[in-house]
Amino acid sequence: MKQYDYLIVGAGLFGAVFAYEATKRGKECLVIDKRPHIAGNIYTEKREGINVHVYGAHIFHTSDKEIWEYINRFAEFNNYINSPVARYKGEVYNLPFNMNTFHQMWGVFTPKEAQAKIAEQIKELAIDEPKNLEEQALKLVGRDVYEKLIKGYTEKQWGRKCTELPAFIIKRLPMRFRYDNNYFNDRYQGIPMGGYTQIVEKMLAGSEVLLNTDYFEFIKGHQNIAKKTIFTGNIDRFFEYKLGYLQYRSVRFETETLDEENYQGNAVVNYTEAEVPYTRIIEHKHFEYGTQPKTIISREYSSEWKPGVEPYYPVNDEKNNALYKEYETFAMTRPDVIFGGRLGTYKYYDMDKVIRAALDAVKKEFGE
Ligand code: FAD
Ligand code: UDP
Repeated sequence: MKQYDYLIVGAGLFGAVFAYEATKRGKECLVIDKRPHIAGNIYTEKREGINVHVYGAHIFHTSDKEIWEYINRFAEFNNYINSPVARYKGEVYNLPFNMNTFHQMWGVFTPKEAQAKIAEQIKELAIDEPKNLEEQALKLVGRDVYEKLIKGYTEKQWGRKCTELPAFIIKRLPMRFRYDNNYFNDRYQGIPMGGYTQIVEKMLAGSEVLLNTDYFEFIKGHQNIAKKTIFTGNIDRFFEYKLGYLQYRSVRFETETLDEENYQGNAVVNYTEAEVPYTRIIEHKHFEYGTQPKTIISREYSSEWKPGVEPYYPVNDEKNNALYKEYETFAMTRPDVIFGGRLGTYKYYDMDKVIRAALDAVKKEFGE
């Protein structure tokens, strides 16, 4: 086989941005992916005229103007604003936690009333510096919201008690004393019309791509295929789990086509009680305001990662972060490899952060 400047492992967003930028600079890239398709977790596929987010709901949102302009070169975005609702037993609440939620929870009308209600619910706890997700959530929204909308959902999603999870996970969500159901605070938000796969397709247009190709098998017969490797798989697997396993959460998506036009009236509905086994149901057509006669929904079931299933979320608690640091030290002994992306750097990155990290890696690599 011919030689390349870069062997890029993973045709997801990180690998694709790197490949695009490297080919723009006259380099030759071979991109391999173990999956039968490109685009990694942002892969979308058209079924019944609907762009299905095969690996879960993906909403692009960022406050970084440069990244927004960058991604808009590859697709036109619609004006979708994510406003999920939460179902808890017989009740429905708006998310993220805002005046609509507080009104639905307590019948309060004003920010002052809502703040007083929260303060009253946590007064005996005196939380200064929240030590874990439970304390952080209680401090932000009080006991009722925590019990009904956070505890069950979080413990299903992460398979760990809220007292054992880092506070930062819940800080991802906005909390505001305004009547505003926008799930994000970012300046820019939307869904690429026609799905995400086209973006990665365009990014990879100048590279050679091999699918159904696992790096660890491939490299055995192609040790000198490229001067440098970009690796976006799990870093612990790269080093043969020498220091032990990093923990990940996996998700099983149960997808169904229904012979009805509108199943749940919203793209994302969270099921926050512990008794419902899935965390949320996605109705894909609503991301692009679809009017097709049928609809497609996916239920998301969370589970602990074990060898043989896909890792999706790094579990960034203290123990795992410390182990990752040790792998990072190992990575320094391999200047011929750049580790990138959610799995390669063990970070709970959104898409915009992945693009930023890939562009930073490009700058560093090309001395710009
Ligand atoms: P990936 O997309 O995982 O790509 C890595 C690729 O490497 C994969 O295709 C994999 O098959 C391949 N690979 C791994 N190991 C090997 C190997 N040994 N050999 C060959 N190939 C290999 N972000 C947002 O901004 N908004 C959202 O709404 C959002 N929702 C999300 C919902 C879910 C359920 C999940 C899991 C993530 C969500 N994200 C969201 C995050 C987003 O998916 C990531 O930021 C982004 O896809 C990460 O890109 P990546 O290239 O790092 O990883
Ligand atoms: N969360 C919650 N209840 C909800 C939605 C989210 O408690 O109805 C918590 C949960 O801990 C979750 C975190 O907030 O892991 C971040 O939510 P987000 O929607 O950002 O998660 P993601 O889209 O990354 O799965």
